[in-house]
Amino acid sequence: MKQVRVALLTMLTSLFLAVLALPDAARGAGPDLIVFDGKVVTVDSGFTVHQAMAVESNHIVAVGRNEDIVKLKTDKTEMLALGGKMVLPGFFDSHVHSVDAAMVEFDHPIPEMETVQDVLNYFKGRAEVLEDGQWIVLQQVFITRLREQRYPTMAELDQVAPKNPVVFRTGPDASVNTLALKLSGIDKDFRVTDGGPGYIEKDPKTGEPTGILRSCTRYLKSRDSGRKATDRDRYERVLALFKDYSSVGITGIGDGDTSQEELDLYQQMLKKGDLPVRISAQYHVDTIGPIEQIEERIRKVAQHPLRQGGPMLRIIGVKVYLDGGMLTGSAYMSRPWGVSKTYAIDDPNYRGVLFIPKERLLPMVRTATECGLQFTAHTVGDGAVETLLDVYDEVNKTIPIRDVRHCITHSNFMSRESVEKAARLQVFPLIQPAWLYLDTRTLVGHFGYDRLRWFQPLKSLFEAGALPAGGSDHMQKMGSLRSNNPYDPFLAMWTAVTRRARWYEGQLHPEEALSREQVIRFYTVNCARALFQDKNVGSLEKGKLADFIVLDTNLLTCPADAIRNAKVLRTYVDGKLVFNR
Ligand SMILES: [Zn+2]
Repeated sequence: MKQVRVALLTMLTSLFLAVLALPDAARGAGPDLIVFDGKVVTVDSGFTVHQAMAVESNHIVAVGRNEDIVKLKTDKTEMLALGGKMVLPGFFDSHVHSVDAAMVEFDHPIPEMETVQDVLNYFKGRAEVLEDGQWIVLQQVFITRLREQRYPTMAELDQVAPKNPVVFRTGPDASVNTLALKLSGIDKDFRVTDGGPGYIEKDPKTGEPTGILRSCTRYLKSRDSGRKATDRDRYERVLALFKDYSSVGITGIGDGDTSQEELDLYQQMLKKGDLPVRISAQYHVDTIGPIEQIEERIRKVAQHPLRQGGPMLRIIGVKVYLDGGMLTGSAYMSRPWGVSKTYAIDDPNYRGVLFIPKERLLPMVRTATECGLQFTAHTVGDGAVETLLDVYDEVNKTIPIRDVRHCITHSNFMSRESVEKAARLQVFPLIQPAWLYLDTRTLVGHFGYDRLRWFQPLKSLFEAGALPAGGSDHMQKMGSLRSNNPYDPFLAMWTAVTRRARWYEGQLHPEEALSREQVIRFYTVNCARALFQDKNVGSLEKGKLADFIVLDTNLLTCPADAIRNAKVLRTYVDGKLVFNR
């Protein structure tokens, strides 16, 4: 019996060795697809450019010269002549909120709004459709992104929608009309009495509310007047969004604040074979309450079955919120923000809001590290970035953090010290050039050009040896350019290469502009590393999974402005064609 087993083992071993010895093309029945006569930018460590690539099933089996690859052709091989076109690894968006974004326009489309008049037109249109008395609530149109950089006034809102309560929200603040105030019981005698933050603005002469609510929108008695989405609606809309990601070459995402409900949806899509993007999930962890409970929540994420998920869907870590935002004047800065009417800052010493003090952040990061989970935090201001890096540094003294690949989500405002520290600790700044594109005008107006020296310091990060990973913070609407924030990788890459911005003359610190090679790494292999996908994808190398795109533009040689208008012709995920223009 024992002998039989040994003989069987020997046979199996030699069979296994024989298979290993076969050239790759002979391993299966030959390539299913050969792309040739192109510029296959591998984004390997030497940034090699080849002419051709062979794919079998979902793997890349060979990359090289035309003559070497084309001869691998068999009867079943599809041959795709590229006519000199560029092939890249599929792009990543390292920070999105896909489900929320997909559902924003479920009830009705929300047009782009660039001016106060656009906002008023929207309310007017809604008032015509809805019945009298129904609430109209517009969320997250930031006044810092409107041309006039101000709220619509109560009088303006009354005029366009006199019979509907109207709420225009920007971050924690809002502008509302007379009816909204009345229905919410807010008048000149109103006071915040629940112990929470906030106040209402009052006319200095009459003492009457102006309609501007600061950090107290919880007092509004607004009611949702839209349709309720079913599970099926949600499935279809998120799938439609993912297909749109495919159309701009995105083959992998970092889901930057995932809930269980969202994971359930992604799992359904995976099961049905519908999922066209790889998802690395950073699980949402609530940071309110006793620290022991928060540590317990983190440990629970480490036990989640999807920690052992596959290359299409997997939990990689946890996400918390460390500070406020730059659109609402609440990012936590190392120096005072400065007094501002737009941001409603009247305290000259105000530095923004740090939600988690260092002594609480430390045990959270330590617990995540101990559990082998990646930690990341929404971290916008330079004071917050410094805090997070200090904590990473502290934890690193007792438990090495390198392998768990901690991140800094946004990392917009940095300093030379932070750049160097991020490089030394091998922490990944997940940076969104869309913010630079949309917000430079407001930021320069407020902080002045010089104080923005270390705003998205991409070049310095690369030069210091850090690995910044590109993305958009897509949170609202579908459509790569009309969404908020726009998730078009070409707009982002153009921004990172030119440091140019909307409604802004000149460049924002062009010394931080990326080279073509760097910007491609920024949107491919760096993201793959940050999202624990580098073993599978991120570069076009033999043995990796076949996620790649064909472009109409050569991003290495085209004029800088042509980057912005580049188009994806084909997108492949796991060897399957998921988009064809
Ligand atoms: Zn986000």
